[in-house]
Amino acid sequence: MKIVLMVCAVMMQCTLALNAQNQTAILCGRLLTGTDKEVKTNAVIFVQGEKIVEIGTQNAIRPEHTLIDLSGYTVMPGLIDAHVHPLIYGDDYQTNHLKGSSAFNALRGLKTVQNWLAEGWTTIRIAGDADTQYAHLEIRDAINKGIFDGPRIFGAGHYLSVTGGGGDINFFSPEQKIIADGLIVDGPDEIRKAVRNEIKYGSDWIKILVTGAFMSVGDNPQNVHFSDAEISTAVEEAKRRGVPVMAHAHATEGINKAIKLGVRSIEHGTFLNDESIDLFLKYDVYLIPTLAIGEYGLETWENSEAQAKNIALTKKYRAAFKAMLQKAIKRGVKIGVGSDNVGFPPNFAAREFVELVKLGMSPLQAIQAGTKVNAALLMKDNEIGTIEVGKFADIIATKINPLDDISELTRVKFVMKGGKVIKAIE
Ligand SMILES: [Zn+2]
Repeated sequence: MKIVLMVCAVMMQCTLALNAQNQTAILCGRLLTGTDKEVKTNAVIFVQGEKIVEIGTQNAIRPEHTLIDLSGYTVMPGLIDAHVHPLIYGDDYQTNHLKGSSAFNALRGLKTVQNWLAEGWTTIRIAGDADTQYAHLEIRDAINKGIFDGPRIFGAGHYLSVTGGGGDINFFSPEQKIIADGLIVDGPDEIRKAVRNEIKYGSDWIKILVTGAFMSVGDNPQNVHFSDAEISTAVEEAKRRGVPVMAHAHATEGINKAIKLGVRSIEHGTFLNDESIDLFLKYDVYLIPTLAIGEYGLETWENSEAQAKNIALTKKYRAAFKAMLQKAIKRGVKIGVGSDNVGFPPNFAAREFVELVKLGMSPLQAIQAGTKVNAALLMKDNEIGTIEVGKFADIIATKINPLDDISELTRVKFVMKGGKVIKAIE
């Protein structure tokens, strides 16, 4: 009996040591798992392969473990940006998209998403992009095949727009045959075909421009562009394939209509009213307000001809929008972090956290908006969004605790994606 027990004990030790050999132990000064309010001190995350296998204490660290010492840092889940366009760049983005081939856009976009990953964004959702083909979905496929490092990518091939809408190019003469930055569709039949094509070429979201836009030229964000029948067709066709719909919507009527017709998220939502808030709650729809880009525009595009409409409208309606967002936050609308990052300067996207805190979110709530909430929006909350056993080891760290200073998220010092160190502590 004694011998059996001894053999068992030795075998257990061996198994532990063997496991430890293949495992990384991340010693965390402070650990924000993202699941609750608790901040754990001196916790250890054990990672094997791509996954988190255990969250324990320092006594469980063995000499065989590969140790990553983040004892001087705050550790939290990798960030998720729910609204980006990696191929778009510049204030005059609607003509810029015609300057590079799809292949060039892919190369440029790959660099862009790699920069974002190094900033802490381990997952992004692309809200449609400006490419004649599907360059950004090819970037995703190349990353998923392990050819390049890059964030987890979900999203839509294009943004579907009506003729003359926010995805159309409305500033050339009728003689010109220009390929618009969006995908132009009119009527339920064209929408149905477009949705089927988007899915065929790899979209796992459908993006529709229900209303006009701020940044495009020659259309009005206060107009509703798609008819009820068109919106319903997009939702119904996508749903049949298990694909959710995100709706760009500024005009009140467009927001409220899109929610009632079954979209999963509203992008921007500038002219939301009290009824919209009721509808967000009733239909359990997410709001991605994309605030940081508005601030950036006001700072940067004062003299931009391409962004003149955007800046005038932003100045006029920003205060009212923020007041309504404060209400929406108080009432518990599910709000996700989405930066609308279009190749802006480094560390732009994390400014979204700062804006959300200014509007009344607690720092923890804002962090969860960019981790846990967005994981649920993506229907990937069993895989990402919090630091829990069984989830992907998508982990970042900052020097200062972002619960004390939320802007610290613009200075992420360590990034791991799926167990692989992308950015090491210097
Ligand atoms: Zn956008």
